[in-house]
Amino acid sequence: MRLSILQYGDPILRAKGARIEQIDDRVRELAANMTETMHAANGVGLAAQQVGESIQLTVLDISQVEDRPTTMRLNREEVDPVSVMPLVLVNPEVDLGREAESGTEGCLSFPEITGEIDRAKSIHVRAQNLEGEPIEIETTGFLARAIQHEVDHLNGILFIDRMSSAAKTSLSSKLKRLQKETQRGLKHRQHAVAETTL
Ligand code: ZN
Repeated sequence: MRLSILQYGDPILRAKGARIEQIDDRVRELAANMTETMHAANGVGLAAQQVGESIQLTVLDISQVEDRPTTMRLNREEVDPVSVMPLVLVNPEVDLGREAESGTEGCLSFPEITGEIDRAKSIHVRAQNLEGEPIEIETTGFLARAIQHEVDHLNGILFIDRMSSAAKTSLSSKLKRLQKETQRGLKHRQHAVAETTL
C-alpha cells in the first residue's frame, strides 16, 4: 500500500524516532509499504518519520542510481550493493569516517529542492534486519551518503540543517512557501477530522 509522504513543515519530521523493541508483523508491513511508497516516488530512501511514524526504521534502494560510485561490505563481506536492495534498517547506529565529501542531495519531503551537503565519505553501520538479526555495514560513496541522510531523519534532522547558510538563505522563500502549504494542509486535515467526529 502506498502511503502519503509528509512534507516540510509537518512537526513529525522533527521528532526523534523511538527505538523498535519488537520487530513484529506491523513493523514488517510498514517496511513493505514504505518500500512501495519510495519506489513509486522514485526515491532512494525513506524514513518512518516521512510517513508519519516516529520510530527507528528506514528503507533504501540505490539500485537505479548508476552514476554515483559506492562500495559496500555486509557482515564483513564485500557485496554488490544492488544485490541487497531494497535495504531495510531497524534501529541503525552510524559511526562516521573522518574524511568528508560534498555531494548533491534531494529529499522526498522537499519537492524540487536540492542542495550540496558535506557528509562522511565512509561509515560503519550497526542495525537489525526485519528478522531481528544484527547486521553490520561498511560503505562508502553514495550509499554512505543515503544512509546518513535517512538516519538523520530518524533523529529529526533534515538535510536543510546541513546546508551552508548561504544555500539556506537562497532557498528561504521556497522553504517558507512549502512550510505554509504544509501547515495549511494540516489545518484542513484537523478540520476534516473534527467534522467527521461530530
Ligand atoms: Zn529525506
